[in-house]
Amino acid sequence: MEEIKKISCPDCGAKIVAGEKVEIGDILECSKCGTEVEVVSLSPFCCQELVEEK
Ligand SMILES: [Zn+2]
Repeated sequence: MEEIKKISCPDCGAKIVAGEKVEIGDILECSKCGTEVEVVSLSPFCCQELVEEK
């Protein structure tokens, strides 16, 4: 069975869909606002927003 891994963007709430080969540590980008999140867990699928340090 295929499991579609997806989350809601922490910033704008848009759906961010991960690929089938997503792994912990991968960076996903919201197609709507550009917010980047890092995959921190696969089961359950969970991401953490990346905070840019300046
Ligand atoms: Zn977004």
